[in-house]
Amino acid sequence: MPSGLRYIPDMTFVPALPLTPSGPVAKAVVAPVASPLVDPFGRHVNYIRVSVTDRCDFRCVYCMAEDMDFLPKRDLLTLEELDRLCSAFVARGTKKIRLTGGEPLVRRNVMGLIRGLSRHLESGALEELTLTTNGSQLVKFAGELAASGVKRINVSMDSRDPDKFKAITRWGDLAQVLRGIDAAQSAGLAVKINMVALKGVNDAEIPGMIEWAHGRGMDLTLIEVMPMGEIDAARFDQYLPLSQVRADLMDRYTLKDLAYKTSGPARYVEIAETGGRLGFITPMTHNFCESCNRVRVTCTGTLYMCLGQEDAADLRAALRASDGDTLLNEAITEAIARKPKGHDFLIDRAVERPSTSRHMSVTGG
Ligand code: SAM
Ligand code: SF4
Repeated sequence: MPSGLRYIPDMTFVPALPLTPSGPVAKAVVAPVASPLVDPFGRHVNYIRVSVTDRCDFRCVYCMAEDMDFLPKRDLLTLEELDRLCSAFVARGTKKIRLTGGEPLVRRNVMGLIRGLSRHLESGALEELTLTTNGSQLVKFAGELAASGVKRINVSMDSRDPDKFKAITRWGDLAQVLRGIDAAQSAGLAVKINMVALKGVNDAEIPGMIEWAHGRGMDLTLIEVMPMGEIDAARFDQYLPLSQVRADLMDRYTLKDLAYKTSGPARYVEIAETGGRLGFITPMTHNFCESCNRVRVTCTGTLYMCLGQEDAADLRAALRASDGDTLLNEAITEAIARKPKGHDFLIDRAVERPSTSRHMSVTGG
């Protein structure tokens, strides 16, 4: 075990109580941070992204094949287990939880999980509970999300052209997503739009998207496509380096680098002409692994210490092995001690294989 990592075996955790269909009755609180998570490179891990389902009501062309095999429901962690897992991380110093997927809002009774986790916001142990969504279910859930202490959400939207939106998402309906964004803003949620830059598909829409998002008081973040999982298209044909997008935008707008950061990987600029913020997530052209503070948990309880590597730890076995969290904590400690320095994503015309066999929908964005 590297120095700086110390497992305290007698850390006590109050087990979560069962969730009811109408909401959690769980009122378990976690003990003060006893043993924070620090990786071998001295990076504090205080942010988890939790994929609550691998299923989705869209089939975005860069994310999934149209004909996807999803996990059998019996393999998934229950909502109670997800709560217990998240709470164990909170007890180890996690300050931010992002729920993702697949589409997190299609998991049955996901609001019960969210309401349950909000107790950690109330106790002050957790600073932020948020989610990344495709927006399709926001009309239904925006109000409840806001009432549960969620302050801001990311909505993925790659085009404002209904036909193109349909072509990219295969199954999505732009009007429904726009109604969802309206509902989120009306409920008081801050919305950030995520847009994956796709060569020859939505690149010409980027200025329009900036002006639309900023006109509605929303940040926009552009994302480079990552070579994760087999899809029906060639990655190389989709990949648009954001270094090139940024250079093109500088011909049109005045970009001012900002020190502003969320706990994610985006680097932000302000666009003087709109007064809004534009983020760049550039895993391909410029990786920011040196400041990585996060790990990802899948809906089966597999912990990935890096989005771009295959190494993983099975937390489900540790969760199910006993009612207490001692084994779970040992498994988390061992996994964090293996967090790699960074990813080595590669997109090249000559390389057909994806860098990871799993799709983004397994670990979430
Ligand atoms: N379904 C939700 C959504 O679309 O926002 C959450 C899960 S989705 C996997 C999370 C984010 O990952 C989205 O912003 C999506 O655009 C992005 N994404 C998916 N596959 C990607 C890929 N291969 N490269 C880059 N971003 C990807
Ligand atoms: Fe679903 Fe999100 Fe993947 Fe699109 S990017 S297929 S909405 S999980």
